[in-house]
Amino acid sequence: PSAVEVSLATEGLAKSFGGVKAVDGASVTFQHGKVNALIGPNGSGKTTFFNCVTGMIQPDAGTVSYRGRDLTGKAPHRVARAGIGRSFQLCRVFPRMTVLENLLVAVRPGGLGRSMRSARDREDIARARELLSRVGIDHLEQAEARDLSYGQQKLLELAGVLMADPETIMLDEPAGGVNPALIDRIAGLVRSLNAEGKTFIVVEHNMDLVMSLSDHVVVFDRGRQICEGTPTVVQNDPRVLEAYLGV
Ligand code: ADP
Repeated sequence: PSAVEVSLATEGLAKSFGGVKAVDGASVTFQHGKVNALIGPNGSGKTTFFNCVTGMIQPDAGTVSYRGRDLTGKAPHRVARAGIGRSFQLCRVFPRMTVLENLLVAVRPGGLGRSMRSARDREDIARARELLSRVGIDHLEQAEARDLSYGQQKLLELAGVLMADPETIMLDEPAGGVNPALIDRIAGLVRSLNAEGKTFIVVEHNMDLVMSLSDHVVVFDRGRQICEGTPTVVQNDPRVLEAYLGV
């Protein structure tokens, strides 16, 4: 196989909460240009790992790098500027803002200007509309986010992540709580965005989805990587069964 380009990577990453070692020396390499999955039993440290690498929490030890650049302990806006966008397990949207406003604030952390009539505003509005159409909720542009179904809110959150045009997109349980039709739409979006060059790192419990979508799977147990490889390799690794079944 041709040489793998390294995307996000960690060495010995660790984070404890009191006596609980949520992430316990995780050395992980994700692949640039691919759909990577991070899987593992509940409580194995996946969300904490995501939070450590995106600057939401500070790791106790270890390093984080992205495309060869050190990102250890960097604040979320620095991680974003490096080209990494992320979604959250419990979808984060502004419930009382319209769908369109949600996308505009995604690229204006300071809030919306009153008139929204500058050239940049018009460009952002055009881009937001294009993305809403791409994720299939353009008809809901003027609806308040709280009136969308949970799956539609997840599509809105994804569109918000895309507003900044990140090179790499980290998704925390994109299919969790979402109906099957919208899961298919999310999977289709991941595939088409990946075909356009975006790297994905996805935490997901839906194994059918993980196995059909991913090029590279990293398996976590008790805060560290226990196995990695293609979906087929990982599915047939006895350590993975053991981690899930606790045998
Ligand atoms: P996963 O995403 O794989 O389900 P988490 O990263 O959410 O795993 O949790 C890993 C472990 O760390 C669990 O035992 C969890 O209870 C614990 N944990 C996570 N966040 C906190 C926190 N803020 N305070 C205390 N314990 C936490």
